[in-house]
Amino acid sequence: MLYIESFTFNAFQENTYLIYNDKKECWIVDPGMYDNNETKHLVEFIDQKQLQPKAIINTHTHLDHIFGVDALKTRYSIPFLVHEKDLPVLNGAAGSAMLFGFDFKNIPQPDDFLSETQPLQLGTDEVTILFTPGHSPGSVSFYYGPGNWVIGGDVLFSGSIGRTDLPGGNFDTLIYSIRTQLFSLPDETVVHSGHGPATTIAHEKKYNPFLQ
Ligand SMILES: [Zn+2]
Repeated sequence: MLYIESFTFNAFQENTYLIYNDKKECWIVDPGMYDNNETKHLVEFIDQKQLQPKAIINTHTHLDHIFGVDALKTRYSIPFLVHEKDLPVLNGAAGSAMLFGFDFKNIPQPDDFLSETQPLQLGTDEVTILFTPGHSPGSVSFYYGPGNWVIGGDVLFSGSIGRTDLPGGNFDTLIYSIRTQLFSLPDETVVHSGHGPATTIAHEKKYNPFLQ
């Protein structure tokens, strides 16, 4: 069984997630810790639970989702995995950091790529990778059926959708991703988003103004 824990970090109120199993192996999803205090907060949780980080897996590579990657790679010597199609976004991160006035020099490079054709294994548990571009060209979502949840990054929010005006974004692609990849999941699936509270597929089908 996989368990999920959420944290909110940085000026963008970004949600970082920890996924862990019964053997205490864990993944960090979208580490957004901006400073030492935020990193300490996450590390303390990992220490308290005696978790062993195995990898950093990202839904996409916008600044607010990668601020904390370097600190974790340095501390735990674990690989950083993203979808290959998000490389242009990652390579533009230094530029966007300057534009937004953030002090962010250690832009991480991926150690390997995530693919929608290859599920991820944490011990004996398996997470499906859904290819959900539109907010960024290589956005993915992590779906865990036995736990009834999906981590969707900035694809779908409670009552809203991800912005599509950043480089590589596309509104029609985003709507298509949500309808085909997320709305095909069971209605009771809990959606853990990159910002804001969790929601469910059923709730968003019924009430999300962008998807009526
Ligand atoms: Zn984003």
